[in-house]
Amino acid sequence: MTSAARRYLIAGNWKMYKTLDEARDFTRQLYNQAKAADSALADIVLCPPATALERVAHTVRELQAPFAVGAQTMESREQGAYTGEISPGMAVDCGATYVIIGHSERREYYNETDATVNAKIKAALAHDLTPIICVGESLAQREDGVTDDWVAQQVNAAIEGLDAAVFPKLTFAYEPIWAIGTGKTCEAAEANRVCALIRRTLAQRGAAQLTRILYGGSVKPDNSRELLSQSDIDGALVGGASLDPEGFTRIINDALALVAQPAPVS
Ligand code: PEP
Repeated sequence: MTSAARRYLIAGNWKMYKTLDEARDFTRQLYNQAKAADSALADIVLCPPATALERVAHTVRELQAPFAVGAQTMESREQGAYTGEISPGMAVDCGATYVIIGHSERREYYNETDATVNAKIKAALAHDLTPIICVGESLAQREDGVTDDWVAQQVNAAIEGLDAAVFPKLTFAYEPIWAIGTGKTCEAAEANRVCALIRRTLAQRGAAQLTRILYGGSVKPDNSRELLSQSDIDGALVGGASLDPEGFTRIINDALALVAQPAPVS
């Protein structure tokens, strides 16, 4: 990360894992291990399944832990006959201050489109939820050489109709689909290049220096430092490795260490 104005953001996406007690125990364990985490230096966000949002938020409050809570998805609509969904207000009611929007698993298995992603971003902002907007290409798209066009188009569709004044409230996550849950990480330099492309795409519509851009896709304690030290990567969206408090703590500590000892300017 190059800009002192952007804090690192490390978010753990638990997907469909952890019961209520497991979620509480994880939060306590992470707190004990990551006590030194200075919330002024990095934002740490736990994204449990919807069933455990309130339990995690309650535990965070009880411990006064420097963690925020995020939903993994939500409806854009306020209420109604949408069986199985949760509304933005419900996510807030459970203690969420962040929400992941447009994760590739949502796009692939639950028919999320650029249009629904755009509507959800607007709903999130209306409820003071920070959206973590996921974009990224498939393996076939990468092999066809259309990564940049695809990602830029996803970014443009996501911000359609938004006033550029809200750009600092957005967080993007570049998540190449072929790297999610596969153990294949995108090379750090390439991940950085695409994150910079996302920033340039935003910059065509307004100031993008304060928008955080994360990398996600098989981030692990043994590759996080290299990824996080890239100039345009402002944090990580972590799936599998966020389920283990020790590994997740190591990723958080990498971010904190980079803030404490910034790379020399060349
Ligand atoms: C994710 O779910 O957003 C993700 C990046 O998963 P993983 O870290 O397991 O690849």
